[in-house]
Amino acid sequence: MSTAEFRMHGHALVDWVANYLDTVEDQPVLSQCDPGAIRSLIPEHAPEDGEEFTDIMADLDRVVMPGLTHWQSPNWFSYFPANSSPVSVLGELASAGLASQGMLWSTSPAVTEVECAVLDWLVDLLGLPKSWKMTGPGGGVIQMSASDSTHTALVVARERCNAPIDLQVVYTSNQAHSSIEKGVRIAGIKELRLIDVDDRFAMDSVAFETVVLRDLDNGLTPSAVVSTIGTTGTTAVDPVERISSIARKHGLWHHVDAAYAGTAMICPEFRYLQDGLNKVDSYTFNPHKWMFTNFDCNVFWVADRKPLIETMTIVPPYLRDKASESGSVVDYRDWHVSLGRRFRSLKLWWVLRSYGAAGIRYHVREHVRLARDFEARILGDSRFALVAPTLFSLVSFRHISGEKATIDLAVAINATGKVMVTSSIINEQSFIRVSIGQTRTEQNHVDALWSIIDAHAIRR
Ligand code: PLP
Repeated sequence: MSTAEFRMHGHALVDWVANYLDTVEDQPVLSQCDPGAIRSLIPEHAPEDGEEFTDIMADLDRVVMPGLTHWQSPNWFSYFPANSSPVSVLGELASAGLASQGMLWSTSPAVTEVECAVLDWLVDLLGLPKSWKMTGPGGGVIQMSASDSTHTALVVARERCNAPIDLQVVYTSNQAHSSIEKGVRIAGIKELRLIDVDDRFAMDSVAFETVVLRDLDNGLTPSAVVSTIGTTGTTAVDPVERISSIARKHGLWHHVDAAYAGTAMICPEFRYLQDGLNKVDSYTFNPHKWMFTNFDCNVFWVADRKPLIETMTIVPPYLRDKASESGSVVDYRDWHVSLGRRFRSLKLWWVLRSYGAAGIRYHVREHVRLARDFEARILGDSRFALVAPTLFSLVSFRHISGEKATIDLAVAINATGKVMVTSSIINEQSFIRVSIGQTRTEQNHVDALWSIIDAHAIRR
């Protein structure tokens, strides 16, 4: 494809994406296709001769669209959002066009320095400890996902711990995301303790210390604890400050998973929920969930970058250069598992500049307002009970007639195709999660969701 053709097709593709965003609201949210249906539309073998781009692009409608679940629909109330925005898509396009590798500072200084600057901005915007800035002992790095960051943190914790791996123990609440358990496995640690939670589904810090003491008595070595700000099930917030004190007392690495709720901290009124961060060792949150920056874009901060770099650095001769040896630059390949890295900070930088902090705050507060409005409807209807308080923009509720009524309702809501919610289980009871955070979700979308729920929930 010549650059002249690229220009022409590129304009057409941007038009296609804009049309998609303008009309996605009318699509069934959950893909209606059967397993194998999309595969059957794709030839068995790759073409020997190149095809016309117009034909290739036409398959977006013919092949791809029927197999899409529309995460960018404003009727998306499922899981957590994986929201995007036009400016973020443009940032992604520019990053793909530049296709630079930022593994070393010298392989593209802009890739590293924009990332450092943007993550330092976020430290201020989210009210995080100033020592996490690149000018301090800590620092931030963009990774693919919160799972990657948590896995990285657990590997660093394992290396920093003096005990043999078989004696190490990791702690998290029984409401923590499954990525913690996976990270423990990846780190090769055998022992994971799932700590009990209180009636708001937050980790019980007394139970945590009791289990730590029991393990110490048994000759084991507690090496890390992962607390959560905004659990996946109900957005519960663990008592970070208390967990930090216990972690410090017994020498554990304390990692905080704020994958979804981290974005809320751009609004100062939520920051009381992250008290104690000045005593944690690492922290992660996802701009790709609620900060209008398309997947993938996760941020990982460490309070002290030394143990991270010591764990991740390997310098073969072909990666040595003067800038690195001077010690005056950041080489991000030493901050994560992968060597190569793309220019992911570009889209985040553009989102922060285009929305401005005030713009992001406005949308976050609006989503929270919509969630509280929805929660009030749940509370005002005798058919339903809240499962957990609505701290952010997730409302968790069940039908009070029991399991069948709740499960049937979730199925009926999604079967309309007009909206999508998630069901889950807590304390052996099913419940429905309504997660409000898609970039273009407004009052009318939540009203329509409520009408569907009202129509399909059995009357008692
Ligand atoms: N942690 C929490 C609390 C989550 O809710 C999720 C995903 O929903 C994750 C981690 C995993 O995020 P990622 O897909 O970025 O690995």
